[in-house]
Amino acid sequence: MGPYEALRLSRRLGVSTTEFFARYTEAGGTVLQTRADDRGCVFLGPQGCTVHPDRPLACRLYPLARWTSPEGDESFGHLEPHPQTAGIYGTRGTVDEFLTSQGLPPYFAMGDRYGALYDRMVAVMERFDPSEDSERRAERRAEVDELDPGTLATALFDVDATVGAYCRERALAVPTDTDALVDLHLKALGAWLDALEARLPK
Ligand code: SF4
Repeated sequence: MGPYEALRLSRRLGVSTTEFFARYTEAGGTVLQTRADDRGCVFLGPQGCTVHPDRPLACRLYPLARWTSPEGDESFGHLEPHPQTAGIYGTRGTVDEFLTSQGLPPYFAMGDRYGALYDRMVAVMERFDPSEDSERRAERRAEVDELDPGTLATALFDVDATVGAYCRERALAVPTDTDALVDLHLKALGAWLDALEARLPK
């Protein structure tokens, strides 16, 4: 789960992203918690998903799966239905129609924007510390998975906290609109990376 998905869900629940991560996520803030009775996702209610209009990307995409190549080409396959699913499966329609019907285009667009920032972050980190290779990143990922539920791996993914701090430092009003918050979040992270890069030897 990425920052945009967390932001959408937090607004549906009427909480800040800081509170959302603390109350509903695990694995460093990347995964939704399971219910106290261990019977599925924390947002699964008697009538199904209780946050359906703002459900995360993977939930919207299911039962399809999406792959993107390093060149940006995308392809789709489909997953086996869960044995207890009440979903109705058919073969009519196109993948494009399905994606649109599930409200996926803005999620993909936001994923691309955050993905580009992530790539830049990795490149900067590797310049800071050449030992920070893919193997080391996999180790870090495993460490994040072990964090206690509600513990965020990095405050940088907390949109409200990051944008709040950015606006306070610059005496700016904090926007309420979701898209404007994402714009400012990406700007704040970009400024942080600019400052890090400025410390690197030329
Ligand atoms: S659709 Fe997603 S968010 Fe909703 S209950 Fe299922 S797993 Fe949870």
